[in-house]
Amino acid sequence: MIGITVLGATGSIGVSTLDVLSRHPDRYHIVALTANNDVERLYQQCLAHRPAYAVMADADAAQRLRARLHPQHPDIEILSGITGLETVAALPQVDYVMAAIVGAAGLLPTLAAARSGKRVMLANKEALVMAGQIFMDEIRRHNAELLPVDSEHNAIFQSMPTDITAGLDAAGVQRILLTASGGPFRTLALSKLHDVTPDQACAHPNWVMGRKISVDSATMMNKGLEVIEACWLFNATPDRIEVVLHPQSVVHSMVEYKDGSILAQLGSPDMRTPIAYALAWPERIDSGVTPLNLFDIGRLDFERPDLTRFPCLRLAYEAMQAGGTAAAILNAANEVAVAAFLAGKLKFTAIAAVVETTLANVSAHAAISLEVVLADDALARESAQRSIADAMQSRGANVLQGRGAI
Ligand code: NAD
Ligand code: MG
Repeated sequence: MIGITVLGATGSIGVSTLDVLSRHPDRYHIVALTANNDVERLYQQCLAHRPAYAVMADADAAQRLRARLHPQHPDIEILSGITGLETVAALPQVDYVMAAIVGAAGLLPTLAAARSGKRVMLANKEALVMAGQIFMDEIRRHNAELLPVDSEHNAIFQSMPTDITAGLDAAGVQRILLTASGGPFRTLALSKLHDVTPDQACAHPNWVMGRKISVDSATMMNKGLEVIEACWLFNATPDRIEVVLHPQSVVHSMVEYKDGSILAQLGSPDMRTPIAYALAWPERIDSGVTPLNLFDIGRLDFERPDLTRFPCLRLAYEAMQAGGTAAAILNAANEVAVAAFLAGKLKFTAIAAVVETTLANVSAHAAISLEVVLADDALARESAQRSIADAMQSRGANVLQGRGAI
């Protein structure tokens, strides 16, 4: 039996992971489930899956879960905070860790899994964007396995030669073609973009996801973060990664070889496929996904992305090219701006403006240690918060309108 910890069990990826795991009770055994503060959902998941540990990042929520769960199930140990998350990522009885916390909050627990030599099934792309070099070094140093869950990276992994440690050239790979749906606003008139609401931004045409990644998909920052993620996972430079708009979300990404071949992975837009692949690799298991019906789909379209419509994609390429902590600064500013947008405090088009201003205001450093990365992450958050607060004070200021510099 393979012991599993699911970090971020109550989220979109967490729930899909539990669905796949529940189809294979003779193969996987759930050791720990974690969440931020959704007590009710974690309580229900504990009843259904009977883990040995349940962790709430929020200490008050952990108390509430204890009060709810312990009368019937005193055997489930309840931990809290970042140490609780790190503990269950590193338990000796855990073989695989699903890293499905959203945002920078996932970095330390995911690193704990890497440092204890687990199979890390990585959905939490922000961890790799923030601390790519450090993360990859820890994976190697501790002989951990890193399996991408992000659908594009899972598709690339499936289409790549097994050994790419020596880089793309040695593997005969010319380019990585990273597909993107273009989100809900791919064809919306540019003049209407700045008044879109959080609910419109979260209504993705093909995927059902958490709210943060849904907004990232609408700005295409998600694809920018994925370009950076792909650079680290596949030892590639950003100029070898091309983003291809593909509105049907059927081709999940492609690898172009030197001889002109392009290998692609296709499938229904359902995260249970990449989750099942990461769980079973190098084998294949049932995921519960309805197979793709090519006759229903009929056609596949491909377009070049418009960087005027999607400035976040350009900013992500620039940050990766700049190197060091620039990607951590980009990520932190984006997290702050997306939270402000979701809270109704920032216009949609201002997300990119906040990120661009933060990248200009906060100097990047060589990412020589986690401390340096976390310090620049904190500076970027402060700077982004300041931009948003300043703009809110002078009502109608550029940042709220998302026009030009702040
Ligand atoms: P979500 O918002 O649905 O769930 C996030 C999970 O993280 C929840 O369980 C929540 O309790 C937990 N969490 C949030 N803040 C936390 C904190 N401060 N400390 C501890 N736990 C915290 O998000 P999601 O859509 O499932 O995405 C999770 C990750 O997977 C993200 O990094 C996202 O980019 C990536 N991803 C998601 C999808 C998808 O289809 N949803 C696809 C590819 C990659
Ligand atoms: Mg993706």
